[in-house]
Amino acid sequence: MTIDRRRFLGVLGAAFTLPAFTQSNPPPRAEHGNPAGAVTLEQARSNPLLALRRLQEGNARYARGEGVHACATPKDFAQVAQGQTPFAAVVACADSRTAPETIFDQGIGEIFTVRTAGNIVVGGGSAIKGSLEYAVAELGVSVILVLGHTGCGAMKAALAVHNGGPRAPGDIGPLLDLIQPAVEAAAHLPGDRLAQVTAENVRRGVARLRELDPIIRPAAHGGKTAIVGAVHDLATGRITVV
Ligand SMILES: [Zn+2]
Repeated sequence: MTIDRRRFLGVLGAAFTLPAFTQSNPPPRAEHGNPAGAVTLEQARSNPLLALRRLQEGNARYARGEGVHACATPKDFAQVAQGQTPFAAVVACADSRTAPETIFDQGIGEIFTVRTAGNIVVGGGSAIKGSLEYAVAELGVSVILVLGHTGCGAMKAALAVHNGGPRAPGDIGPLLDLIQPAVEAAAHLPGDRLAQVTAENVRRGVARLRELDPIIRPAAHGGKTAIVGAVHDLATGRITVV
């Protein structure tokens, strides 16, 4: 456990423990493939702004077709088998075209990822929120990024239901219900409806996390962890912070 994490957990109070998850802290590792001048993993882990910059740098490489896929050799994944030290947590859609490690050009062990259709946070329950709390409290990520994307099937389906379409079968219906508040809020916004629903769903996720006690709100308000929203444009590869 690093000094920073020990101090942070101390802030949360002595009653806060994570016995089932606690792992030994792995040693710092060399980064293979990170371009000269780019934000290092250790810098990103210690500074929320640098963590966001590292994601943006990696996305710019991906969009230019210059991804370096850092830490993708057998030596790299054998090293992270000892433990993980991701600098970011990303809540992304399950869509096959928006894989965070790929679109941010990050290596194995560098992004803690939570994915559902529609990148759900609000209403996502303990599986989603507990995973992100673990990422903050135990892994010490310095940024959580809620990431929507263009052409999202879940947003389209929620819009279709809102516009009078049939209810989806199985648990797809309840999943789409979680997106309806964003659909309704976006109804009053100008511009492309699907784009507005996508952005609103992201904004609501960010807002929920920023107020989520007892772990993420203090980390966000204390400057330990940045909570950011963005949309990934499937056609250009680029992300835009919302
Ligand atoms: Zn999607």
